[in-house]
Amino acid sequence: MTLNAVSKQQPWERIAPVLAAGQRVFGENRVQEALRRWEARREGLELRLIGPLQTNKTHEAVAFFDVIETLDRERLAGALAQEIQRQGRAPRLYVQVNTGEEPQKAGIAPAAADAFIAACRKDYGLPIEGLMCIPPESQPPAPHFALLAKIAARNGLLGLSMGMSADFETAVRFGATAVRVGSALFGER
Ligand SMILES: *Cc1c(COP(=O)(O)O)cnc(C)c1O
Repeated sequence: MTLNAVSKQQPWERIAPVLAAGQRVFGENRVQEALRRWEARREGLELRLIGPLQTNKTHEAVAFFDVIETLDRERLAGALAQEIQRQGRAPRLYVQVNTGEEPQKAGIAPAAADAFIAACRKDYGLPIEGLMCIPPESQPPAPHFALLAKIAARNGLLGLSMGMSADFETAVRFGATAVRVGSALFGER
């Protein structure tokens, strides 16, 4: 079980004690912000991108992150494959699934997930470590975690990044291998 400490938008005074306590895995949702916060003290940390990735930022993202959790479209798969080849550096990859099928939210639709994962593997040569989801705020999260676990199982994927401050206990019950906790750890943003 990995605790991904989501440090986005947090002042350094709140992050420093968590780092001092031994936390080594941090999550960020913007590439530039992550670079500003972590570039000078990156050594020994695992940094995970949990926010949407634009194709024009794939160069920086591949160079900087250990894990990219928001792969959700073919164009991005192509751009990532190209950068990984070019840089000889391969972040671990998670496919984001839009389990609630919310139009404003990133992620591949659940019905399209199997084909997309297969395309990532076969057409783009990208090894996929797991799946990530952000359930709709207005709904109980359990069915979304169950759906994500089911899609992962039938595709032979072991990683499940799910659960945030409000629902990480539920996510763990449904098999989360990484929870992404921000405000419960650092305080409100
Ligand atoms: C901000 C964020 C989190 C952390 O949210 P909290 O409710 O503060 O724990 C988790 N996952 C993603 C994708 C986020 O953008």
